[in-house]
Amino acid sequence: MNKAFVREPDTTETFCPKCGAAGVPVPWITVEHHVPEETRRRLTASSCFCMTPSCEVAYFDAMESYVLATDMVQPVYPKDVTAPLCPCFGLTRNDVEDDVDAPSPVKIRTLLAKSKSPAAHCETASPTGRCCMPEVQKYYFKVKGAGD
Ligand SMILES: [Zn+2]
Repeated sequence: MNKAFVREPDTTETFCPKCGAAGVPVPWITVEHHVPEETRRRLTASSCFCMTPSCEVAYFDAMESYVLATDMVQPVYPKDVTAPLCPCFGLTRNDVEDDVDAPSPVKIRTLLAKSKSPAAHCETASPTGRCCMPEVQKYYFKVKGAGD
């Protein structure tokens, strides 16, 4: 194997101090929108979000400082499964389940179109700072698969 590949500095992955899952690196502007100022002071600028639904940790950094999901300004998916999957447009799990039962996934298609419009503000609305479409699609196929 090429040495250049072996030496690739890929040690940037940060793991949740509670559940051990690899975190999703999050822009600081996202943390600012989701964590009250008093609380986010304990985090450094390079924070990650823990995607494990059952884990109580929301954001954490490489120094093992963390913020709990209950410390956040409002409940977020997947820490709270009743919170919208898509915080930009409020699409919930129930909406996705409706789409699974519908002849075609109208709500998801509408969301997909909206997610590409300027009205999407994932960087501040989504707890990961990323577009929620992959999560929506993942949940759709999970439900659809379970129904067959
Ligand atoms: Zn965790």
